[in-house]
Amino acid sequence: MTGIEPGGVSWPPTVGVFPFDLSADELRRRGTAEIEAVRAELLRLANDPAPATIENLVAPLERAVARLRDANFQGSIMFSAHVDEATRTAGREVAEACERFWNQQLVDPKLHARLRSVDLVGEEESTQFAVQKMLRDMRRAGVEKLPDQRAELLATANEIERVSNQFAENIARLERAVLLDGPGRLAGLPPDYATAHAPGPDGKIRITTQYPDFLPIMAYCDDASVRRDLLFEFMNRAYPENEAVLSELLRLRAKFAKDLGYASWAAYALETKMVERPAAAREFLDRVAGTIRAAAIGELGQFLERKRKDFPEAERLEAWDSEVFLGGGYYDGKIRAERFGVDVRALRAYLPYVRVRDGLFDLCRELFGLRIEAVPSAPTWHATVEAFDVTRDGTHLGRFYLDVVPRKGKYGHAACFPVRQGLAGVSWPQSALLCNFLDPTVPLAEARMDWRDVVIFFHEFGHLLHALLAGRPVRLWNSPWNVEWDFVEAPSQLFEEWARDPATLNRFARDPDTGERIPAELLRRLHDADAFGRANRGLRQVAFSTISLDYYDRDPTGVDVAELFRTSWGKVYPRPQSATYHPETAFGHLTGYSAFYYTYLWSVVIARDLLTPFQARQSLTDPETARRYAEEILAPGSVRPAAELIRRFLGRDFNFDAFERWTLEGQPPPPAK
Ligand SMILES: [Zn+2]
Repeated sequence: MTGIEPGGVSWPPTVGVFPFDLSADELRRRGTAEIEAVRAELLRLANDPAPATIENLVAPLERAVARLRDANFQGSIMFSAHVDEATRTAGREVAEACERFWNQQLVDPKLHARLRSVDLVGEEESTQFAVQKMLRDMRRAGVEKLPDQRAELLATANEIERVSNQFAENIARLERAVLLDGPGRLAGLPPDYATAHAPGPDGKIRITTQYPDFLPIMAYCDDASVRRDLLFEFMNRAYPENEAVLSELLRLRAKFAKDLGYASWAAYALETKMVERPAAAREFLDRVAGTIRAAAIGELGQFLERKRKDFPEAERLEAWDSEVFLGGGYYDGKIRAERFGVDVRALRAYLPYVRVRDGLFDLCRELFGLRIEAVPSAPTWHATVEAFDVTRDGTHLGRFYLDVVPRKGKYGHAACFPVRQGLAGVSWPQSALLCNFLDPTVPLAEARMDWRDVVIFFHEFGHLLHALLAGRPVRLWNSPWNVEWDFVEAPSQLFEEWARDPATLNRFARDPDTGERIPAELLRRLHDADAFGRANRGLRQVAFSTISLDYYDRDPTGVDVAELFRTSWGKVYPRPQSATYHPETAFGHLTGYSAFYYTYLWSVVIARDLLTPFQARQSLTDPETARRYAEEILAPGSVRPAAELIRRFLGRDFNFDAFERWTLEGQPPPPAK
């Protein structure tokens, strides 16, 4: 028996059950076979003599691309999560082969000509929108150029891919360390950190630039010279290796954009974003900086004041005093602990993983009518991975996987990965959260979560909900993976709010031993502590966004990448960047995000505004608002431009008001006039 038979091609019945237990060789073989099958189908479509229609060209093309995406997703998941290194390598090769193959197809003039000839008059608006996006992708790859120009663009695109990977790999691979002469230098750190960093046979303690080593030092280590020395190594961990790689990446991208007729890579990259133009992104950043600069400077002043309690002679803040990383910086952490008395670690008692997970599922049922059920028999890639099926009103929506326990070789951050492309009439979407929340030595049923990880869990689940609710589009190019990139973080940043909301948190957060809920007083202080330092963190994001634009919004010939980083940083942020640091060589977002790091801030501004209808009802679980949110923002995927989705939900364009109120929430009230 064969499966679905689109376009006269027999498709294997196993489409949709791409197994996770393939050996490296099998994975490679299968990836190649998928690419070849898709190649044959695209060739047939490009050469079909019949007049092109939605039915005989667009639909089968979408099914072929969905199949290619699946092979790519499969490769990426295996690369990011498999226990076996050889399989991980094979997974990356498969994903890269899919990318290269697709780059090649995008510049196929025959396929392009046929697609252009499809008569769209009388078609649904969403179909017209999807086909226009397909054609746009091809134009942006260079399909309309002459054959030799096309070949050169393709070669440049592949070279960009290679150099980007090299940049990212260097950051992941290169590591530096400091040696400390005894546990006394670790004063201020939690006892388990000192236990995990016992002196070696030479009596020295080795602290590396890897996050689990680095972040607690920057947040808690009382010895300023340890913070100083480690920060120096951290800022230079990919230097000098990545200095030339970055210059080469900038050169290649500028060339690619110029060959296509764009003024710069930034102009090229931003064309398909909500913001559309570099000038508009700069206006946006200026507006954000204008809103928060004074408050951020005020916060830095408070850090310095606090430092003077330790060092009365101190004249300024150093980077190692105030640089804020994921877990916070040293003096803002001190102030948070002293002023608000919040020890986030105390919250762990109330946050068993299983309760948080089930509480999250209950919330999704209440808000969006989703029924989430474990599928213990579903194949996964590791024994600790759980699979869940999602239905609404008896209709299957898709499947997701939770992979929340760290292990060697696994993706080290937290993210939502596509596992399978959904397409109406063909397949159901599958996604996975790859996160590292739990202690691997504790059984899942007993593991506790850090409150910050709960917020991250909700953030990633916001992506997952988007991927599920919009995951079976009629037209492939309207899928959630095709949403404007500067909108994708809005649903996830919004969903974090539920983890921060005391009323929601208290539905499920409970100490399993005592049955106690988190004390309201602690939640209030947590909220206030969370608001403190927001302006400073925001201004830092403006600085990084400006740097990302500045690198890509110019001719990079002769540009000193280190100097440009410092100059751009200095334009925005009041504390200068040291000339001995080379953070540009470890700024990983310069590959994937390139010119549009501003996306994070842009999405926060949108997310704060999307929250206002809930706030107007004084409830994050108001069923009517939640239903409209799911219908107008999540479920459409990219069936229409994101700005239009927002307009339909809010009844107006989004604006800065909610963001301004939120960022300045932690500020003292202005003096009375
Ligand atoms: Zn995200």
